[in-house]
Amino acid sequence: MPDNKLIDSFGRTHEYLRISLTDACNLRCMYCMPNETIEVTQSSKMMNADEIETIAKKFVELGIKKIRLTGGEPLIRKDAKDIIQRLSKLPVELTISTNAVFVNDFIETFKEAKMSSINVSLDTLNEEEFFRITKRGDFKKIMSNIHLLLQNDFRVKVNMVVMKGMNEDAVSEFVAYTKDYPIEVRFIEFMPFAGNKWNLETVVSYDEMLEKISSTYTVEKLPDDKSDTTRKYKVKGHKGSFGFIATITQPFCESCNRLRLTADGKMKNCLFSQTETDLLATLRRGKDIEQLILSTVYSKKEALGGQQTLASKTAEQLENRSMIKIGG
Ligand code: SAM
Ligand code: SF4
Repeated sequence: MPDNKLIDSFGRTHEYLRISLTDACNLRCMYCMPNETIEVTQSSKMMNADEIETIAKKFVELGIKKIRLTGGEPLIRKDAKDIIQRLSKLPVELTISTNAVFVNDFIETFKEAKMSSINVSLDTLNEEEFFRITKRGDFKKIMSNIHLLLQNDFRVKVNMVVMKGMNEDAVSEFVAYTKDYPIEVRFIEFMPFAGNKWNLETVVSYDEMLEKISSTYTVEKLPDDKSDTTRKYKVKGHKGSFGFIATITQPFCESCNRLRLTADGKMKNCLFSQTETDLLATLRRGKDIEQLILSTVYSKKEALGGQQTLASKTAEQLENRSMIKIGG
């Protein structure tokens, strides 16, 4: 393998690419999808399976070692199985973030692609609260699919976005759930994106959550990997564990190793970057995308896409797409 060429001007090496397969979704999570009528990108403007494979191969040649498929909901794409099969042939760790509604149709595909770890988004263990957050009634299906993944020996990470006054009580419920199930729950600080009505008061911080959990349980710190965004813990004696992704109160930009590709083929060097590089248009003109990728990596800002004052802004003041349009 060649040396990694994906190094920015601050010396950070990038090994992790998140590819969005679609900006459409079967759920309507309030923190992600700003409104019911959001326009979905026309399929001709989205990367097709060949283009995804070509662009992914180029990133792998340049140093990417891990690819996460995301969206929108990646499993609603009709060619999701084909894309997974193709990318599984690359020398990378392949993984996926999904709302798990369709996971039961993909167990064999995941196994064949050697995807051992699956991230599932679920923000509550209460069916009515689930409906309030997602505007859809798929709670039971998701729970049964989480158990199906566990029965099939997948490592399951559950991502929960914690919003003040909405689902903060579920934090303790998820920690209780780790007693009998070997899931890794990650509590994510609510982040601002176009239209999602975020403000600092809606954030429940890492410190607040840890304090609350520690008032009930004896909590142990687990080791964190260098570029891992999650600060990991477990309750003594519990089968599962939990962790915090504290983008707002303790950003981890210094050790960031991630790059992103939107479903319409635009590269973002940071979740909060205000600029994008159109790799797909260049590829469709028959040109090489390598220099574009390298210069986009090099121009990555030191922190939070250059929006240094994230915590003092409102979602409306931020220049960014909504999360569903970026690909989480
Ligand atoms: N549909 C898939 C899912 O829900 O896992 C993949 C896409 S989703 C955009 C990826 C991740 O982004 C999810 O874990 C979701 O919880 C997270 N996310 C979306 N909007 C967010 C926000 N405003 N703050 C924090 N996390 C967010
Ligand atoms: Fe869909 Fe995932 Fe966004 Fe929820 S978080 S609306 S499941 S893309």
